Amino acid sequence: MPDDASQLSTIPVKNPRTGEIDYHVTPPTTDEIVKECTSLRAAQVDWANAPLSDRMGIMLKWADAVEANRDAIIKAESKDTGRWRLSSESPDAVIWGIRGWCDRAEGIIENALRVGQSSTMPSIKLTQQLVPYPLLGVISPWNFPLMLSSIDAIPALIAGSAAIIKPSEVTPRFIEPLKESIAAVPELDRVLTYVAGGGQTGQDMINNVDIICFTGSVPTGRKVAEASARNFIPAFLELGGKDPVIVTKSADLERATDAVLRGSVHATGQICFSIERVYVDDSIHDEFVDRLVEKTNKISLNDSDIHKGHVGPLIFEKQAGIIDRQLDDAIAKGAQIRSGGKSQDIRGGKYVPPTVVTDVSHDMTLMRDETFGPVMPVMKFSSIDEAIALANDTEFGLSAAVIAGDENEAMEIGKRINAGGVSLMDTTLTGSILRDAEKTSFNLSGLGGSRMGGASILRFYRKKALMVNPDMPVKLQDLHET
Ligand code: NAD
Repeated sequence: MPDDASQLSTIPVKNPRTGEIDYHVTPPTTDEIVKECTSLRAAQVDWANAPLSDRMGIMLKWADAVEANRDAIIKAESKDTGRWRLSSESPDAVIWGIRGWCDRAEGIIENALRVGQSSTMPSIKLTQQLVPYPLLGVISPWNFPLMLSSIDAIPALIAGSAAIIKPSEVTPRFIEPLKESIAAVPELDRVLTYVAGGGQTGQDMINNVDIICFTGSVPTGRKVAEASARNFIPAFLELGGKDPVIVTKSADLERATDAVLRGSVHATGQICFSIERVYVDDSIHDEFVDRLVEKTNKISLNDSDIHKGHVGPLIFEKQAGIIDRQLDDAIAKGAQIRSGGKSQDIRGGKYVPPTVVTDVSHDMTLMRDETFGPVMPVMKFSSIDEAIALANDTEFGLSAAVIAGDENEAMEIGKRINAGGVSLMDTTLTGSILRDAEKTSFNLSGLGGSRMGGASILRFYRKKALMVNPDMPVKLQDLHET
């Protein structure tokens, strides 16, 4: 999001369906952030000292409060995203996130505490202590406003940290009704704060917290990493992607085209792990493209009625310029648009129809830079080695997919792709691993430990070793240097 907007005393917010500015937020001053962080830090001491079961009980009360405020949260988020169905599910990210972590946290933490006797100095007894970072700062993007603002904060709060969260200034409306749900649980209100603001607020937070979880673009991620390094605090970065899918000659075309269409176009392509590059064996390429185009042509925009159609407006209108420039560059270099095309203005909203592009190559920005829109560039390959080389020819490495004749064939290919999560026989399955498997991004797609699986909650602890010698200490005189 624009740095210039973040400098303003109030930040205007556009409605993506009308293009009208119909909301404003006033970012906190630097002094207000300092004050807020000081207060959260003070309250965190009792929060961390409370038994895990007490913290989980309080978090479960918050889940109930979010449920009670569900309609208001959905309405506010939907205004900012221009979409109904996905926003109507967004409170579940908090409700099920809390319930899911409450089921898993105790076992994961107990496992991490398991030590015993030293193997290098056998008489020494070892105890592991987990000490939560006092204050987590979360900076999140606009594509899934509530979900991405809470995904890291929930395990952190359960671990015993306090949290200050700054969602994107593009989609801040849900903050008000969400704050009401937090205020309904006073014990939580003391250790959890949402603030509305832009880049400057993000920087002020980094200067006042102990650990950062950032989700957003690579350029901003770099700024966050630099500021975190200056403050000597750990930063977990979840960044952009250019996710490939490989479709082999033995793949079922019905499966492959369904999976590619959904993986690229769902949420108007505004998912970090959307499919953005499609590599298809040359023996099935033409039939694959024909079927994909046929299915794509049946997809409708939901411009006139938010409850009807498949493809909503772009949430952040500037994204239309990025997508159009990538398509222009591809066309200038010989690409063919087989369905869809550039962005359209419809009653103030910016819409990009699902777009299939062929005759693409890696010298086009469409195949190199993140698109974040419903565009499917399809490229031929003539051997699996070539397909894997193409999939790995990227500065990103968030996720990928393989659709082959069977699971074993897909697995062998998937193991050779440089990405944190690889969906096999389908696309975009990352949501399935939440608390069950871990993944770390390759290349520019991220930095730091896994947000998924057991490692996620353990990120919020400093690990302390307590070492006991039950015997008499070794005397210096008994240590011979020669
Ligand atoms: P962005 O980088 O523009 O902004 C993200 C957040 O950073 C916003 O809250 C913004 O206010 C804040 N920010 C801006 N400048 C800052 C600064 N100088 N210091 C601190 N904070 C600052 O990203 P976006 O456009 O909101 O989101 C889209 C991007 O997010 C895409 O690249 C997408 O792939 C990525 N994303 C990644 C994941 C993931 O899990 N890997 C998930 C969703 C989105």
